Amino acid sequence: VSEPATSSPGTTEAAPTAKSAKALAGEATRRRTFAVISHPDAGKSTLTEALALHAKMISEAGAVHGKAGRKSTVSDWMEMEKARGISVSSTALQFNYKSPETDPADEPNVINLVDTPGHSDFSEDTYRVLTAVDAAVMLIDAAKGLEPQTLKLFQVCRHRGIPVVTVINKWDRPGQSPLELLDEISNRIGLTPTPLYWPVGIAGDFRGLLRRGEDGAAQEYIRFTRTAGGAKIAPEEILDADAAAARDGDEWETAVEESELLSASGQDHDQEMFLAGQTSPVIFASAMLNFGVRQILDTLVTLAPAPGPRTDLKGQDRVVTDPFSAVVFKVQAGMDTAHRDRLAFMRIVSGVFERGMVVTHAQTGKPFTTKYAQTVFGRERSTVESAFPGDVVGLVNATALAPGHTLYTDKKVEFPPIPSFAPEHFSVLRAESASKYKQFRRAVEQLDSEGVVQILRNDLRGDASPVMAAVGPMQFEVVAARMKAEFSVEARMEGLPYQLARRTDAASEVELNRQRGVEVFTRSDGALLALVSDKWRLQYIQKEHPELTLEPLVATA
Ligand code: GDP
Repeated sequence: VSEPATSSPGTTEAAPTAKSAKALAGEATRRRTFAVISHPDAGKSTLTEALALHAKMISEAGAVHGKAGRKSTVSDWMEMEKARGISVSSTALQFNYKSPETDPADEPNVINLVDTPGHSDFSEDTYRVLTAVDAAVMLIDAAKGLEPQTLKLFQVCRHRGIPVVTVINKWDRPGQSPLELLDEISNRIGLTPTPLYWPVGIAGDFRGLLRRGEDGAAQEYIRFTRTAGGAKIAPEEILDADAAAARDGDEWETAVEESELLSASGQDHDQEMFLAGQTSPVIFASAMLNFGVRQILDTLVTLAPAPGPRTDLKGQDRVVTDPFSAVVFKVQAGMDTAHRDRLAFMRIVSGVFERGMVVTHAQTGKPFTTKYAQTVFGRERSTVESAFPGDVVGLVNATALAPGHTLYTDKKVEFPPIPSFAPEHFSVLRAESASKYKQFRRAVEQLDSEGVVQILRNDLRGDASPVMAAVGPMQFEVVAARMKAEFSVEARMEGLPYQLARRTDAASEVELNRQRGVEVFTRSDGALLALVSDKWRLQYIQKEHPELTLEPLVATA
């Protein structure tokens, strides 16, 4: 583990200690922790890069007026990432952003962009990641509209009450009409879109954005200039209505009319409704051309919620100024051949985190030393010295930690576990060679505790051939690869002909096992699950035996 060259961007020179609750509250208030949810190819990587670059350019431009000789606190990860492409294992990117919309006297905001895995097979990971954020950006391709993965992830946000900002991307390319796209959002997911910026020019002819006021009236025209080679920041010209009409008459008129139509149907921003997850501010953008990128950042900073209290198992709120507490939301191992280890990522809920502090692991009651704390983005890692509510920190080789676990100091707290996704794929797992049985068992235990897959057992199959349950079959490949790499065990897998899992109980177990196409298992958390071959079989059993318990696992969809 290398020592840091510079401190992480969110770190201030004098970290507040427990005694300065005011400073701590201030650190929390200036943070925004969010994730981008999208279907593959909608432009998530392009947008991530554009947001970070925009913020970086702004802070560097600002640094000219700052202290001389002070190094930029933003690490050079961008250069590395550009060369390599942003990897699947990216976890959280942190950068400072000073919005022109905020008070010039205020400190810059700290943006934590938590990455979500792109492949739908890892939606269980994504679900966990979404427990660590306070808001989500739903990124939509202007030509494709809502796509399956976007829908699925949106349902998770709704289920968790996460406010959603909608970004319609690729407006530089031919696509649907803006009103059509909004209709699709309100009709298909029942979310009322309330555009903050309306496009001037149809998809494929992106001139700029009309900024809508509180009442939906046109405030100004932000006209973009396309630059050859793609400047990091799209040059903006701010025009009033008269100048806009003189400049882009027809396009401007259309935008004004459409914006008025929106107001007529009540599609104006309402902060309370947004926070309640009923409406979604909309921005049109081109991540590729850097059009609308500033507007996305400004929206997050001005409207998205700062880290707030989190309810614990007892129903009490842990507020940001309480002693340190954090929730583990993701465990990742073998991320990189250069760092052959296992990282547990926690989101800080309350208090100050300082590297080296000893915290308590709520699930075991054992002390845990946080000597190796890192931020990870792509393959870049840097050591974290201190962090605040909303921040994401990776703990190295924290084998006891699993998603949903709580860490705390001082006042004991335990947060509710993260509900697991309903698995749809099932496969028996066996060690290729009986002589490796011990390693095999250890590996199964480890991967189970990390939540890589869910492990199910029953007496019939015995301990030597547990069943893995997953949301997507790629999770099985991860198991096989890790067994081999970390435990030197070759594993054999054999798919099972079940498609559904339902929660059941001991009273139903015997009768269910008698049914064709059904098998009952105990999951490692003790839950009894009935695996069923298909939904027709399930319907049949439910009709024939209404007394049997067969409940859906999680109501995320
Ligand atoms: P991801 O799979 O969601 O991470 O999508 P990427 O960021 O990799 O983008 C997918 C493709 O869309 C790439 O070829 C990008 O260059 C392209 N793309 C992303 N944003 C835009 C945009 O605003 N306009 C256009 N024309 N292409 C874009």
